[in-house]
Formats: sequence, C-alpha cells, structure tokens
Amino acid sequence: MAEHFNLVIVGTGPAGLGAAFAFREARPAGSILLIDKSSLSTGGLCNDCKMNFTFPIGFPMEYWDRLAADKYLGFVCARLQPQILSKNNLGIYANRAQKLGVELLEVRQSHLGTDGGVALARAMTEELVRAGATVCLGETALDVREVDHLLITDRREINFGSLVIAPGRKGFAFLQQLMDRLKVPYVDNVVDIGLRLEAREDNYPIVRDYYDPKFHFPQKVRTFCTNSGRAFVVKERYEDADGRAYFSVNGHAFSKRGQANGLVNFALLKTVRFTEPLASGQEFAQMLGQQAMLMGGGQPLMQRVGDFRLGKRSKAESFNEDLYDFVPTLAACTPGDIALAMPSKILRAIWRSMKLLDTIIPGVLHPSTIMYYPEIKLYGNRPRFIDSSFQARPGIWMIGDGAGTSRGITAAWASGIRAVEGILAAAR
Ligand SMILES: Cc1cc2nc3c(=O)[nH]c(=O)nc-3n(C[C@H](O)[C@H](O)[C@H](O)COP(=O)(O)OP(=O)(O)OC[C@H]3O[C@@H](n4cnc5c(N)ncnc54)[C@H](O)[C@@H]3O)c2cc1C
Repeated sequence: MAEHFNLVIVGTGPAGLGAAFAFREARPAGSILLIDKSSLSTGGLCNDCKMNFTFPIGFPMEYWDRLAADKYLGFVCARLQPQILSKNNLGIYANRAQKLGVELLEVRQSHLGTDGGVALARAMTEELVRAGATVCLGETALDVREVDHLLITDRREINFGSLVIAPGRKGFAFLQQLMDRLKVPYVDNVVDIGLRLEAREDNYPIVRDYYDPKFHFPQKVRTFCTNSGRAFVVKERYEDADGRAYFSVNGHAFSKRGQANGLVNFALLKTVRFTEPLASGQEFAQMLGQQAMLMGGGQPLMQRVGDFRLGKRSKAESFNEDLYDFVPTLAACTPGDIALAMPSKILRAIWRSMKLLDTIIPGVLHPSTIMYYPEIKLYGNRPRFIDSSFQARPGIWMIGDGAGTSRGITAAWASGIRAVEGILAAAR
C-alpha cells in the first residue's frame, strides 16, 4: 500500500517551503511530505538570497495586484524576519533617471548571500522536520496518477490528500510533460533574454548606496539581480525537453563575511512576449542558448565593452591587458562577438539601456566591463488555473517559478501560502 500524507509537496524551494509552513500552522496534526530531487534543500534560496519585499518585484502581474502581494509579503516577512538594507542618495540617481525616461524603483531588500541562503534553507528545513514534517532529498517526482491521488517518484508511490508541485525553473520540462499528461492547458509565450555585465565596483558605485538597484528602461529592459562584495558570475546548465544542453549565465555573491573582490555583476534583461504563430517562447530562448553554445565551443560568450564598441570580437590573447584590467570571474567562458549571437532587436534595446545607465552612473561602460551572454529567464508554463489559489486540477496545485506564479524568492513563498489557503478552503 502506498504511504499516505495529507499534503505532498514536490520541491523544497521557497514556494514549497511557503506551502509547508502555512499548512503546518493551519493544521498542526496534518501529515506533510516534501521531496526534492536535489540532495540539498532548498532550490533558489541558495543563490545569493537577495529578498525583495516590494510589489511588483518578483510578482507576475497576471496573478498578483499590490493589495494581494502586500498581504502575503506581510506573512513572508513574519516568517523570514529579514533585515532590510538601508539606501542612500536615491534622489540623485532617481532624478537623473527620470530625465532620461528611466525609472528607479525603490525596493525593500535584504541580502544573505549564497552562504547565508544555504544556512537559512537548512534552518527552515530543520524547523519543519522538528514540527513533524517529513523531508526526503534526492528523490525525483516522475508522474502523477490523478484518479488514484498518487505521486510516482523514482523510489515509490505516494498517496496524497493534496499535492503541491513547485519544481522551479529547472523543473520546466517535468512540469510541461505533467501538464500535457494531466491535460492542464498552459501558455508559454514570455521569456527574458539578455546579458550579464561584470564591472569594477568603482565603475558602478551605486551598489554602495543601493544593493540591488532596479532600473526600468524603455523597451521592456530592466536591471536584475545585482551582486557585489564577493561577487561572481556563474553558468547554469539547462536541458530542453529533448535533452539538448545549453548554458545561461547568472550571478551571486557571498555574505559580507569574506574578502570583497571589488567587482559587481548584474543582468540587463529584455522581456519578449510572443504572439501567434510562435508556439513556445521557451523553445525560442533555448535555441538562442544552444546557438551561443555553438559559437562559444560549448561555453557561454563574453566580450569586453571596449571591443563591442569598436565592433570587434574579444579574443583570448587580448582579454586581460591594458584597459582590460580585471580577470573575469567566470573563467569557463569564450571571448567572442555577442553581436553575432544575439537577435538585433534585443541587442539594440539592451545597448541603448546600457548607454542610458552609463549616463545615470558614469563609468559602467568602461572598456573593461564584461558582457556575458546569454542570460535567459524562462517564465513560461503558465497553467490555466481553475481557481485563484493556483489549483490546476482538483487536488493538485502548481506554483512558484516553474508554474509562472513567481519570479523571485518572496513571491514564490507567497505563492505557497496562497496555494495552502486554497487547499484549506477545498477541505471545508
Ligand atoms: C543563480 C540564481 C540566483 C538567484 N538569485 C535570486 C535572488 O537573489 N533573489 C531572488 O528573489 N530570486 C533569485 N533567484 C530566483 C529564485 O531562486 C527563484 O525565484 C525561486 O527560488 C523560485 O522558487 P521555487 O520554489 O519556485 O523554485 P526553486 O527554488 O527552484 O525550487 C524548486 C525545487 O524543486 C526541485 N525539483 C525540480 N524538479 C523536481 C522533481 N521532478 N522532483 C523533485 N524535486 C524537483 C529542485 O531540485 C528545486 O530544489 C535566483 C535564481 C538563480 C538560478
């Protein structure tokens, strides 16, 4: 006989944790199982862990308005007890931006760093276990048999009262296949495509006043995920549904405990929304990722702004000399020509935003600044829910970045709480 739990959660990222804590508080005697295919709990909390507590950062407007987001952010704050970072001189930057038609958003942020995020994730998981939840790491969900309320994993079959599926961005393919099998209609038409810039902190000093400054430029371009202190660019390996691999770059930083490296990195992303006849924004973005791999000999591309401006590719032998005066933190990356790889409409919008940014914060386009490509954020797979609590099929909820209900830690956590409200309402 399959083991039974009142609530089974796939994914121990912030969405899964938000659901687990909310359910535990409402039903202290109810049984909870969390599974995660990773051997380390928990998902995206372990990547730099900047948390944003201001709408609309991280909250897709299709599902959230300010009123709803603020209500759940209150619960998230109460659980995570963030230390909100102070900001200085915002008026100066905001005025410069406004004159150029750029908006600087004032966002309540905390920052734990990658090491702090891992510690928080561990503490949260341990707290859940102490409160009676079962957490199984290294276990992969494979399928759901809806009529029998069974989750099938690589180890066993589990009977659930309610099922929350929160597999994050790395679980896109799994979620898509599941939705196809469960006949949950979904759309997948929005992607973010862009670059990650790495600069000397002296050339982007705003980060001393505002840890993760959020600029919104014309043509749907924005800054995203700024890291400074001990900051590094990283590459993440993804696979499309057919198992073809590609890399997306990303960034993270360690908490203030270590030695600073004097560098800062952040993404400039353009949101692209496709309409018919394109069926899948994800496939489009994945193909761009694979094309970059082709050009980079299996690695992402990097180019100094100095070379880009002159319309020439960067080369390994010229990558670190004279004005190109710092070593890239992502070593496994190929010097090349981003203009050859990135679609021109996206590149033009991003280059224009870079020039606007350099007018607001003069220096960021120093010749040494490195552009890494591609940074791809997939936000597709938005299921057509049957209610506002993200119920996709009776008894089955789909939440977090994988299901498009969030684009960040706090909104993912909020999605978990909102799903549990639906679960409790359904049980009444
Ligand atoms: C490098 C990086 C840096 C980031 N930095 C920030 C930041 O500073 N601030 C911020 O707000 N957001 C940041 N994000 C985004 C943030 O991580 C996500 O918004 C958030 O983690 C989404 O939460 P989630 O619970 O939906 O998914 P995740 O956190 O991705 O968790 C999903 C979990 O599900 C598991 N899983 C997937 N498929 C299966 C399966 N079939 N069976 C079992 N388990 C499965 C995965 O192993 C994973 O642990 C960053 C993301 C990355 C990649």
